[in-house]
Amino acid sequence: MDLTNSKVDDLVEKARQALPVWQALGFTGRKKILKAWAAQLTNDIAEIAKVISDETGKPVSDSTLEATVAIEHLSWAAKHAEKILETQTRPSGLLFANIRSKVERIPFGVVGVIGPWNYPMHTPMGSISYALAAGNCVVFKPSEYTPRIGKLLAEKFSLVAPSSAIFQSLDGAPELGVQLTKANVDKIAFTGSTRTAKKVAAACAERLIPVILECGGKDPVIVAKDANIKLAADEVLWSAMANAGQSCIGAERVYVVREKSEEFIKTIAKAAANLKAGEDYGRATMPLQIQVIRSHVEDAVNKGGKFVVGNLSSIGNEIVEPIIMVDVPENSLEVTDETFGPTLVINTVSNVEEAVRLANATNYGLGAAVYSERSGEEIAAKLNCGMVSINSVFIFAGIPSIPFGGIKDSGYGRIHGPEGLLEFTYAKSIVKPIVRLPLPITSFRRNKFTDKLIGKVLRALHR
Ligand code: NAD
Repeated sequence: MDLTNSKVDDLVEKARQALPVWQALGFTGRKKILKAWAAQLTNDIAEIAKVISDETGKPVSDSTLEATVAIEHLSWAAKHAEKILETQTRPSGLLFANIRSKVERIPFGVVGVIGPWNYPMHTPMGSISYALAAGNCVVFKPSEYTPRIGKLLAEKFSLVAPSSAIFQSLDGAPELGVQLTKANVDKIAFTGSTRTAKKVAAACAERLIPVILECGGKDPVIVAKDANIKLAADEVLWSAMANAGQSCIGAERVYVVREKSEEFIKTIAKAAANLKAGEDYGRATMPLQIQVIRSHVEDAVNKGGKFVVGNLSSIGNEIVEPIIMVDVPENSLEVTDETFGPTLVINTVSNVEEAVRLANATNYGLGAAVYSERSGEEIAAKLNCGMVSINSVFIFAGIPSIPFGGIKDSGYGRIHGPEGLLEFTYAKSIVKPIVRLPLPITSFRRNKFTDKLIGKVLRALHR
């Protein structure tokens, strides 16, 4: 594998040369090609799902769902880019009533996308699709654990595109990610851990280029007194365990009110007993993650947490059986840090206020879920994070019209939705006098009479 700068620089340069071709197509031409790409990916979804499953270890059904949602995003971005990014005229105000003001959205140019391995298609496509639809060319660096999906996406794109340089994929080596942040790209969209995000942000600061950081989470779930417990237990179990718990927006901690605690714990434990690790979800994709899972669970045990499902021997060399713990102290790693395994903490609280306080007492702020029949919106409003699902889990990631992203250690910037399209463009303001006034404002010819008039306008407007 060529790890030299020149390989990355070559791809970025090729992308830059392809920019005029891509931008000359306009929204209509680009929409056609992106829609054709979506059709190609749909046609080849079985092949794509197999590659995702081979690389990550997740069941083919999960890989197919991942690809389906990614294609939905691609199609939405292609369809809506023109309307969302159209030039707007803006009122110029009384002082400048003779000026026509407009705002254009300009694509950055070449965007570098760095992706993770846990959703190796859906996650980076949240940046790739929206960046391309906005008129950028993209160089993608997939995770070292999932390089084949990057190559495959680029191959499928080249079948329908006027130039394969519009969207290219590098190999997976982390060093190539480092090089990409140092190359002549105009923006970086990064998804991965908070630790790496800080390095990426520092590299982007060196070049003073903008960056989107989609990082990890420690997503809480609040279960209120009026929650539908059967539904909550069923969905929270899936949220925590699906993809072997390797979901940035997966449930990691539950705060359930005392009145419903016993029923919730019993119901979820019963459902967990039917789960088959290795079938319902796969292996830990990254072997090193096993050590992280073990250290968190051990810390929880040492601090007094109790097992309701599984125990330390549930942690195998590759596959981890479901682990559910209760009464885990809030200072345990299992509560404070992203575990990224099929483990769940359920802590009982006195009331919803306490649940909200503990849910917010984290360095992360990605997603959250609330189960309450009557107060879902009210509780959601109090949560400090980027996304909340009420009486449901995960679904905000699949809805293309709404933004996705976090706050605090979960990063900044947004992918998906209108915000995701705007994110890959910058605003350019253009003003032009439509009538020449006899009173010059921006000239040394401005005199006392003009100053007086401006004063009058100011007083009329603001007194
Ligand atoms: P990671 O930080 O180890 O790696 C992410 C990517 O960065 C990889 O492609 C890696 O090769 C590359 N990389 C490593 N060092 C780099 C550097 N110095 N400069 C540039 N690139 C570098 O993360 P991961 O283990 O691949 O992914 C898992 C993490 O991603 C979890 O924390 C998860 O929560 C998070 N995640 C977040 C979202 C989201 O949208 N918020 C989605 C999926 C995953």
